[in-house]
Amino acid sequence: MRTASRVLKSAHSARQLPASLTPRSSLRPFRSLSGLAHSSRPSIRPCTTPIALTLPRQLLSTTSPLRNESKPKEELKDEPKQEEIELEYEIDEDLSERKWSTPLAKTIAEAIEVTGPIPLASYMRMCLTADLGGYYTGALPASEANPERDPFGAAGDFVTSPEISQVFGELCGVWFVAEWMAQGRPATGVELMELGPGRGTLMDDMLRTMQRFPGIAKALERVYLVEASPQLRQAQKRLLCGDEAVLEGCEVGWKSRSKYGGVEIVWTESIRAVPMDPSKTPFIIAHEFFDALPIHAFQLVSVPASSDAKPSPIITSVSSPTPSPPQNPNLQWRELLVSPTPPGSTHASLNTPLSERSSPVPDFQLTLSPSPTKHSLYLPDSTPRYRRLKSLPPQQALNATIEICPDLFSHTTNIAHRIGGHPTLNPKPHPSGAALILDYGPGDGSIPTSTLRGIRRHRRVSPFSEPGLVDLSADVDFQAIVDTALDASEGVEVHGPVEQAFFLRAMGIAERAGEIVKKVEAMGDQKKKGDVERAWQRLVDRGPGGMGRVYKALAIVPEAGGRRRPVGFGGDVVV
Ligand code: SAH
Repeated sequence: MRTASRVLKSAHSARQLPASLTPRSSLRPFRSLSGLAHSSRPSIRPCTTPIALTLPRQLLSTTSPLRNESKPKEELKDEPKQEEIELEYEIDEDLSERKWSTPLAKTIAEAIEVTGPIPLASYMRMCLTADLGGYYTGALPASEANPERDPFGAAGDFVTSPEISQVFGELCGVWFVAEWMAQGRPATGVELMELGPGRGTLMDDMLRTMQRFPGIAKALERVYLVEASPQLRQAQKRLLCGDEAVLEGCEVGWKSRSKYGGVEIVWTESIRAVPMDPSKTPFIIAHEFFDALPIHAFQLVSVPASSDAKPSPIITSVSSPTPSPPQNPNLQWRELLVSPTPPGSTHASLNTPLSERSSPVPDFQLTLSPSPTKHSLYLPDSTPRYRRLKSLPPQQALNATIEICPDLFSHTTNIAHRIGGHPTLNPKPHPSGAALILDYGPGDGSIPTSTLRGIRRHRRVSPFSEPGLVDLSADVDFQAIVDTALDASEGVEVHGPVEQAFFLRAMGIAERAGEIVKKVEAMGDQKKKGDVERAWQRLVDRGPGGMGRVYKALAIVPEAGGRRRPVGFGGDVVV
């Protein structure tokens, strides 16, 4: 149950920015963008807020070697569009006769033949992380241009912020240094954890930066990388530990020694496998990880009063004691399920958005379940925020569609327990550590709706064609992270989400990038100078083609009664 102080924290976190900075974005279908560098400037001025912010000299006077900048990824210009929904589904075709676009599509169709249409979350999970043919777990065909089957970069499907500019990772590293300082500079027990590290570029830039702060470098005991992809684990090992280093098996996964002071790096496939130790100070980063977690989709439909399908009788342990407003008894949540498209379908017959017609005709489509499913009975009833939708005026509520990500709840709960403690799972005498979550999604507390997107070779494609070859992602429900973290642990408070532009500018991106530009200029490399400038500006650009507004940053930090704001979220560095 929330105490008065927790309500205060919640209000603080939700309202720390002036209204003019609170995004009410129309979100665009990026997969990911950004890059960072490290800190070194004499002072940082707030760019878009009246809050004065100054970083101390130690954080400002460090320099780090230049990294080769990647070019910003191609823009993805098409707006997400809701898939066609049909009220009935049938699976009566002979599946063995049909040509599927990938082997994984056939596997999924065979599963559906046995079980009936499957939740979107099951479809997404198979597409992204199935042992055989999942996007991150081995589906990408090797080619001459892309022998490593790497989803990132020009030869892959998308580019992320850390790949665009070294400044992104450097500033994230500085953010954790600032948190470490604010939390009394613990001399031992610091652990770094990254969820979904991609090529390892972000962690590399962070570790290189943190090496320049001997206190935290000494206190750093271990780095945990939570990674589902065996190929990406190898890429991370090569970058962080060198070609020669080997991945040895260990109790929770694999380990090796980093090139940064020999600190141990441990890989696991799940955050649950990372030991939870109340004596440790965990610093956790997740960039473009939550958007890859599987979502369920639901729609509110009107059912006749006499319908056999009764409203949910299920009472869940996560139900809040807050009384819900009266609900319209004729409205029920129904789950959107994945089923094969009818044989002989065309883009026209399926009404595929024009922007997605470059991909093969989708193998699958979303259909509305004609009756409640176990997820439709439970998930949309699990928090007051979702329950409120049913009490909207019927004309507003009817056909409302929402996306819910159960894995977001479990990951956020785990993170909050690590930082803030939990009476039995992680009894911590003092909350410590911090989490920085960067991703795209609404910053105004709204619940994502119809945001599933497919990306292949830097273009929007149908999320239902070529399963396993297409990257799938969905907007992150930041408000759900806020609510879940505060509910999970009395020992945390949450700041943000703030726009990426706000965060990076407050962290001093302009000053740091300016230093790099000067160095490049001194080397007489005009082309590189232009690349560096375009890269960092892309990260903070709040216009339609930029990442500054669409991407958000959110911090989970130890409970301090809302008295200390983290740097980058309106706070000053505590020296
Ligand atoms: N953070 C990186 C990569 C983002 S792509 C960057 O910004 O460049 C998503 C990453 O999460 C990949 O490394 C992918 O393999 C990993 N991933 C996706 N789903 C996962 C899951 N369920 N468990 C663990 N890792 C996952």
